[in-house]
Amino acid sequence: MLHKSISGAGERYNVIVIGSGLGGLTSANRLARSGHSVLLLEHHHQLGGLAAWFKRKGHIFDVSLHGFPYGMIKTCRKYWNREIMESIVQLKKIVFDNPQFSLTTTFDRQDFTNILINKFQISQATIDDFFNTVAAMNFYDDQSMSTLDLFEKFFPGRDDVHRLLMEPITYANGSTLMDPAITYGIVFSNFMNKGVFTFKGGTDHLIGMMTDELVKNGVTICKNSRVDRIVTEGGKVQGVQVGDRFIESNTVVSNSGILNTINDLAGRDAFPDEFLDKVKTVRVNTSSCQVYIGIKKEEKIDDIGDLLFVSTAKKFSSDELLDMNTRSRTFSLYYPKTRPDHNRYTVVASMNGKFDDWDILSNSDYEAAKQAMIERTIDHLESYIPNVRQKIDWLEAATPKTFHRYTLHTKGTSFGTKFEGLDISRSIFKAVPGLFHVGSVGIIMSGWLGAINYGVIVANDVDGYIRGL
Ligand SMILES: Cc1cc2nc3c(=O)[nH]c(=O)nc-3n(C[C@H](O)[C@H](O)[C@H](O)COP(=O)(O)OP(=O)(O)OC[C@H]3O[C@@H](n4cnc5c(N)ncnc54)[C@H](O)[C@@H]3O)c2cc1C
Repeated sequence: MLHKSISGAGERYNVIVIGSGLGGLTSANRLARSGHSVLLLEHHHQLGGLAAWFKRKGHIFDVSLHGFPYGMIKTCRKYWNREIMESIVQLKKIVFDNPQFSLTTTFDRQDFTNILINKFQISQATIDDFFNTVAAMNFYDDQSMSTLDLFEKFFPGRDDVHRLLMEPITYANGSTLMDPAITYGIVFSNFMNKGVFTFKGGTDHLIGMMTDELVKNGVTICKNSRVDRIVTEGGKVQGVQVGDRFIESNTVVSNSGILNTINDLAGRDAFPDEFLDKVKTVRVNTSSCQVYIGIKKEEKIDDIGDLLFVSTAKKFSSDELLDMNTRSRTFSLYYPKTRPDHNRYTVVASMNGKFDDWDILSNSDYEAAKQAMIERTIDHLESYIPNVRQKIDWLEAATPKTFHRYTLHTKGTSFGTKFEGLDISRSIFKAVPGLFHVGSVGIIMSGWLGAINYGVIVANDVDGYIRGL
């Protein structure tokens, strides 16, 4: 059922979804549940997009399962199923360690308030004012205020407080101090609601449950199926081309990157000039680097926390975080409790990264730079897990080029586009009737929660379009 080959001629669906990231999966599931015939095409051999995992030497590594907000519980119950919702558990030990401060937190409003009062000597009134301001931020607010402006308004000159408030959000969605304050406020408030959560059983378990649900609802799933072209005629969608096969549908939802969708899949000729003028303004977010660390079966490691935001850089700076030789990284610790039936320890270190820094390197320089990144990472981890080198039996690294290869996203972007991409994504069907986009745009629609919620919004648009509402 899952590995169907595409039969081609004569095949017709109400909707074709291109890409099986969390946004694409959710749209496909909602539309099938509403009674539409849905074909889901994924170029990779595995579903999930960036919600990825891979196996090496008895280890299972999670690529993007580091933490999401409490809102996932309601979203999964409402838009997926109870079984998925019941796998969500809290990560209770979030650690910060850098030259400016070291602390452990549950990463919620109450604990942050205590920390800001007791450790950073900020007044309760200022903290309350700050939290109330960010909680009241919404999508349609003024975007001229940057996150740095917001921090300076409440905590002027306090770059230690800025670091506490910003570092995790930069890791969570790639935003910087210069991005609009609302993109910060919405994501930060989501986390501050009740803390940081994860899926017990890992990404493979989640995507397995989602796949069962898609099959139950009648979605036809084809993996190893890269869409080469969204075919339009007379300004409207006619179907998609996969290799030499044409599959017919008047409605296509692309979970491919928004720029890939416009430039590569539909082709710029399909769009009016005014729309393309707006597309010119879209900036893609940066990408990521990761180091995957497998601990020998016979070794154990102590509980040093679930998520460690660590840095040896004196001050926080968005540029330092993006530097190839950054001294800042997040360690995600996966203890046997993550996958109770698996009983292994793994660590994943995540860094931000820029595609061009890696892309310009020769093959040998690229391999050397990857090895150097692995070495720096293990040196850093040694300060939290002494003698960890002796305990490791698998080491591997990913760079922005790796993320590009697996997702096809422009410059391997991990979090889609900056704010202006959202308007393009939301209005694409007005430029080409029948063509919709779902997936990381505008920062707030990215991340696991953002992508799933956006999948629901787009499925509703598509359902209305097909029904002529
Ligand atoms: C290193 C890293 C760590 C992260 N950590 C977290 C975290 O801790 N918490 C969190 O909430 N979020 C995290 N994220 C972000 C989160 O994973 C993503 O925002 C989310 O999964 C993106 O979903 P999406 O719907 O935009 O699609 P994507 O996951 O981007 O998937 C798009 C899919 O489309 C497919 N595709 C593209 N073009 C074609 C084509 N032509 N034909 C067929 N298929 C195609 C791709 O193969 C891919 O499967 C992280 C991301 C990265 C990179």
